Amino acid sequence: MPNLLLAVANTRPVRASISALPISRRLVDRFIAGEDQAAAIAVTRGLIAEGLTVTLDVLGEGVTDPAGAAANATAYQKLLAALAETGLTAGAEVSVKLSALGQALPGDGQAIALEHAARIAAAAASAGTTMTLDMEDHTTVDSTLGVLRELRTEYPWVGAVLQSALRRTEGDCRDLATAGSRVRLVKGAYAEPASVAYPRKPDVDAAYRRCLEVLMAGDGYPMIATHDLALVGAARQLAARHGRSRESWELQMLHGIRTDELRALAADGVAVRVYLPFGTDWYGYYVRRLAERPANLLFLLRHLRAGKTSEGKSGAGKSGTSKTSASKTSADASAN
Ligand code: FAD
Repeated sequence: MPNLLLAVANTRPVRASISALPISRRLVDRFIAGEDQAAAIAVTRGLIAEGLTVTLDVLGEGVTDPAGAAANATAYQKLLAALAETGLTAGAEVSVKLSALGQALPGDGQAIALEHAARIAAAAASAGTTMTLDMEDHTTVDSTLGVLRELRTEYPWVGAVLQSALRRTEGDCRDLATAGSRVRLVKGAYAEPASVAYPRKPDVDAAYRRCLEVLMAGDGYPMIATHDLALVGAARQLAARHGRSRESWELQMLHGIRTDELRALAADGVAVRVYLPFGTDWYGYYVRRLAERPANLLFLLRHLRAGKTSEGKSGAGKSGTSKTSASKTSADASAN
């Protein structure tokens, strides 16, 4: 179902319709800091003041022209300079998608992405913080790990993301569980074929546990990114079993999801980081958040149905009826 939804959502007409819905804007606001850097800095400052740390994502992916890739790299450089100026880099790093830096450009896409990623890593180094390479669909994994290897020769703290949904990932975890290696473990948010990924969620979860064991037993710095509280518990148990200090691993969650649990974990002494996206190019991120939780999708569908019914009855377009319905279901969607 998530695979089908992501495929449909990424077709041009559906993308245009979903983007134009006022309700989409309201849902998106839950998941992102805002549309510009100033909003992102303000939210970052607030989260750090609460004892959390942050990884900032400049929204944008699947860039199809060199100028777009260069502009995205520049946006990250500006962000890192602003984080340094505002004294926030002790608690804030950046997350970067290589497809935003030109990875998919024909011919030398990987080299272009590497060049831009190296500029961002240099900016992170001079700002006194780190960067992590997000992981996208399975066709990009070898290229992304290749860029990671190159970057780590000069910037060994550049982080990687591995997805337990992919059959290859346990092996990748073994390869990357080395001293100083920062690895974020996620389940995976992309529609993938069964030839490379586990189609059933219980298998993805079981693979996550196996990867967790490998990373926690290894010599690297595991970044355990999940809202699945059973897995959060498993991570904490493994950290204790392997004698890991608070400084040797962390938990990560997405902005707008399970925020109460996140704060409770921080209060309980766990190092916690929030993944905080911002920008105007939010569509891809938004539909992945819809696809991974049926309640989010049902919320959108119920709203659309309510909107249609009220339009049909009154002929007045977006009436108060749909607003009432949206307010009610918004509360449902917020209940993680
Ligand atoms: P699930 O079993 O999907 O969810 C567990 C519970 O969390 C759900 O029952 C629900 O209560 C809550 N929940 C989960 N998702 C939502 C949602 N969208 N809305 C509301 N509640 C929700 N994926 C990649 O492919 N590449 C990346 O680089 C990447 N980076 C990430 C960085 C961070 C910090 C995090 C937390 C996730 C990242 N992801 C990435 C997404 C990840 O792959 C999953 O799609 C996502 O985290 C949902 O999986 P889960 O582990 O929370 O478990």
